[in-house]
Amino acid sequence: MAKRRSEILIDILKSEGMRYTAQRQAVWDDIRDQKHTEHRDAEEIYNHIRGKGIKVSRATVYRTIDVLVKNRLIRKMDLGDGRSLFEPSTNDIYDDRHDHMICTESGKIIEFYDQELDFLQEKIAQKHGYTVVRRVHQLFVKPVK
Ligand SMILES: [Zn+2]
Repeated sequence: MAKRRSEILIDILKSEGMRYTAQRQAVWDDIRDQKHTEHRDAEEIYNHIRGKGIKVSRATVYRTIDVLVKNRLIRKMDLGDGRSLFEPSTNDIYDDRHDHMICTESGKIIEFYDQELDFLQEKIAQKHGYTVVRRVHQLFVKPVK
């Protein structure tokens, strides 16, 4: 695999007072390249990177993920049971706004987007004198029997 230095990663690490390293680049590469609809936890990401033969510590993977979340390069989804899943952010409007449904029986994650939610949340925020800058919507669902 060709080595690539990500300018945005370099900037982010610098702003966090962290050094740019090949290991941190490998973490960002791995998440950025994951399948479009995939949501993985930190352990899966760690194992996947190790599986490629890259020597990286668990601590580096977890810490780098935290920094990427904080700087909005990746999105974090809290499953409510202590686990979190991650996916890359994109510039795509749909991608950036999509919400998640999590099936409490199968653990399946369903992505959805509904413009009415956008209108409604903005209306609610404005009623209180604010405008929405970021949203975190998550529905826990089960199949209709
Ligand atoms: Zn998603």
